[in-house]
Amino acid sequence: MLRVFLCFTGLLVSLLAQAQQWDFTLHKHTSSQAGPTLLVIGGIQGDEPGGFNAASLLVTDYVIHSGEVWVVPNLNFESIIKRSRGVHGDMNRKFKGMRQNDPEFQLVEKIKSIIKDKQVDIILNLHDGSGFYRPEYVDKSHGPQRWGQSLIIDQTELVDVTYGRLDLIANSIIQQVNLRIKNKEHRYHIKNTQTRLGNVEMEKTLTYYAIKNGKAAFGIEASKSFGTHYRAYYHLQMIESFMQYLGINYERDLELSIKNVKNRIDNNVKLALYEEKMFFDMRDVRDRLRYVPMKKGEPLYFRASNPLIAVLDNKRYYNVRYGNRSVTKLLPQYFDFDSSINSISLLVDGVKKDVMLGDIVAVDKHFQVNPLEGYRVNIIGFTKKGYASEHGLSITQRDIKSRFSIDKQGKLFRVEIYKGDQFCGMVLVDFSSRPVASAETTRLNPVF
Ligand SMILES: [Zn+2]
Repeated sequence: MLRVFLCFTGLLVSLLAQAQQWDFTLHKHTSSQAGPTLLVIGGIQGDEPGGFNAASLLVTDYVIHSGEVWVVPNLNFESIIKRSRGVHGDMNRKFKGMRQNDPEFQLVEKIKSIIKDKQVDIILNLHDGSGFYRPEYVDKSHGPQRWGQSLIIDQTELVDVTYGRLDLIANSIIQQVNLRIKNKEHRYHIKNTQTRLGNVEMEKTLTYYAIKNGKAAFGIEASKSFGTHYRAYYHLQMIESFMQYLGINYERDLELSIKNVKNRIDNNVKLALYEEKMFFDMRDVRDRLRYVPMKKGEPLYFRASNPLIAVLDNKRYYNVRYGNRSVTKLLPQYFDFDSSINSISLLVDGVKKDVMLGDIVAVDKHFQVNPLEGYRVNIIGFTKKGYASEHGLSITQRDIKSRFSIDKQGKLFRVEIYKGDQFCGMVLVDFSSRPVASAETTRLNPVF
């Protein structure tokens, strides 16, 4: 497996909701070989998940070997998480001018300065648009009034600008991409909004702001007629075509297919709390997880496996959100924490293993936690009379009540370690035969 090392800003440590300013994150894929810098922006509107999921995959699953790719996957993060086009109005109409007291003033100023960064050569703004754009009217959902499956330019050319021939570039890109699209309806067309010639709406957009500042910029629209993963797949096709055009060499961790994109979007939901002493694989997670150990009177910091995850403080519980989706609720139980151990010893299907707290262990038939002097083992959902600490017992899946599992399938269980009244950390045992989120690679993966 490819290990993704990213130069990472933000997200490494994220503060919990209450204090969260709904800032977006900028992820810089750098490389050791000189080349152009591509800036990809997702999520300017919160109800266009194809774009922001594609941008998120570009962060987590790609490595760049020449040039640089900068990604802002969650520009309007608050609207993404709140499933709204724009909680404070349409952000993509705020680039010509906006009131200083607009709640998004700082965010828009910040993305403007990234757009204007000397290093940035070319900018892609990802959207999901209605129907299928066609230059001529075909029917209600296919025509000039639609946006889906189009590559948008504001004008044909930007004079004296590298990559300023927007029309030629757009042509070359869609020719490449369309070669790979069998279904004619899904093929891309170029839409020139002719913004300069009095298109008042388009004058207020991010791409036109970039154009006016001498930067080549394109809007990419995937059709809202498709499901999210389909749209994200097409966005990635377009982004890759741009990288190829620019001579940016890349490598990705997944084979690009609609099925793989869906699988990755649906299943890459992992959350670590408290310096990774607790780590949850949240694919197929239950609607709520009860008695999650948390530190009394301290803000909750988390790390997540992708930049679309937010944890919201709801006073009595925490809401885990992922893009437009609700993942689960964490119902806390408060403890003081002990940090005197980092690992425990397990016997997994007869093989002794040292397991770091925060790791997930795949179990085929049975496991037992080896005794640890001075510590108490609590396997959530398992009880045996006379055992205050549940170590030294060979345990199968059937010995644990399935309703206590993390996942809906009843395969993933918590093993918690305590010292007196203090919580030390958690290990998960996974009885499913699906590949375990490898804690070792996850731990090293700075996307976290
Ligand atoms: Zn849009």
